[in-house]
Amino acid sequence: MEPQPHDMISCPYNKAHQVEHYRMHIHLQKCRKQYPNSGKINCPFDATHIVNEVEINYHISVCPKRDMLDTQMYAMDDDHRPVVPIVQQPAPESSDDWENDAHTSFKPDPARKAHVIQKIRGGTPSERKKARSENPTGYRPLQ
Ligand SMILES: [Zn+2]
Ligand SMILES: [Zn+2]
Repeated sequence: MEPQPHDMISCPYNKAHQVEHYRMHIHLQKCRKQYPNSGKINCPFDATHIVNEVEINYHISVCPKRDMLDTQMYAMDDDHRPVVPIVQQPAPESSDDWENDAHTSFKPDPARKAHVIQKIRGGTPSERKKARSENPTGYRPLQ
């Protein structure tokens, strides 16, 4: 169950502070100043959100990125239920890089491959030509 705006929730810094959910962010602005040495932690939904560690559960309950993920997951769930559990994606900005990397490293490059094979074989151009005519596939059996 999601906390409703007027539900009383406990302040993460001091359980004795009972604050209405919609006002908690205001309370935290004041309360966290009394705990300047709190450990910092990245929001699991957006690495640009840096949150005091004790506030992370509260942050997760209000994080705008969490709402976006929830919406996506529900949409998928309605269309076709995933067989495998949904794995949490890396932060959006880095996933772009990952896709680009994968694209370049898995792109076949025949010219480069031929160059490597020639380099391994060594020898003169005529020897290489002969080797290729005997073995046109370029397959080099282990000796
Ligand atoms: Zn407090
Ligand atoms: Zn967040």
